Amino acid sequence: MNRLGILTSGGDAPGMNACIRAVVRHALNEGLEVMGIRRGYSGLLAGEVVKLNFRSVANIIQRGGTILETSRCADFLKPEGRRDAAVVLEQNGIDGLVIVGGDGSFRGASALMEETSTMVIGVPATIDNDVYGIDYTIGFDTAVNTAMEAIDKVRDTADAFERIFFVEVMGRDAGFIALQVAVAAGAAEVIVPEQKTDLDQLCRTLSDNFKRGKRSNIVVVAEGNKLGHSLQIAQYVENRLNTSCRACVLGHLQRGGAPTAKDRVLATRLGAAAVEGILKGKHGHMVGQRNGQVVYVPMRETWEKKKELAVHLFESLKVLGK
Ligand code: ADP
Repeated sequence: MNRLGILTSGGDAPGMNACIRAVVRHALNEGLEVMGIRRGYSGLLAGEVVKLNFRSVANIIQRGGTILETSRCADFLKPEGRRDAAVVLEQNGIDGLVIVGGDGSFRGASALMEETSTMVIGVPATIDNDVYGIDYTIGFDTAVNTAMEAIDKVRDTADAFERIFFVEVMGRDAGFIALQVAVAAGAAEVIVPEQKTDLDQLCRTLSDNFKRGKRSNIVVVAEGNKLGHSLQIAQYVENRLNTSCRACVLGHLQRGGAPTAKDRVLATRLGAAAVEGILKGKHGHMVGQRNGQVVYVPMRETWEKKKELAVHLFESLKVLGK
């Protein structure tokens, strides 16, 4: 292999830049040339390819977002689009491609590899942490810390007014952020897409909490939960309990900001392992960390298998959130 390409795809996540930096510098160190592809698969189809050197990735380890930018690309869902992408790769002499993104991006990468024999390797970066086979995705720790700090602030006002706050965090299909944040911020309850929540039971718990003298009740709500928007839930509970309730949607602020040290170190390690992996024939795999070790997971498993939430955290919340 002579020339490695790198792109970021799907939802951006803090730590993507630290990963780009690690991939570029490790690849150069191995004697490879490195080409950055802008705007994910859309930029690949448009031929937006730039040569990267050691200095191209200076001063980015601390920055959120992605210097390569990202996109969602409908054309890449079609075989014709992927064939066009392979032509662009060939024209630019790119023999291997590092995809930094989530399982959607890996589906695309896998199809590209099967249909055009392009060598691809994936690095998991999404704030949602919903990627099978590894402990944490790049960006998850930063998003959790951002949400936790916001909830710490919400708690001050909840306590002052004896209000119930429903704080909505990101997670359309997965409750990893919600559960982790709920534990870290000392929430009373959590509502996630993976579990059914009985609203009447929730009302009873919150009412019991007040009776026990708990002044600030925080309920963390994952956006993809089955009960609906946090505003609707807050209104229902307010009417039922005749208590002041507020909804607070954290939204995209969870995606931005400087990555935590944990995310920077993870991104750096996985970037290095991606270069090593593709040179050792690990294409078609995603590199990740499991129990502290670097592992290479077949890309297919990332969407065919489902990562489970840690049940013990729910049990802990039940005891501690009273
Ligand atoms: P993420 O990588 O964060 O999960 P998406 O699911 O939005 O993000 O996927 C990013 C891009 O990957 C999509 O816009 C599309 O171009 C490509 N992609 C997703 N799923 C597939 C698929 N089944 N086949 C081919 N390409 C896909």
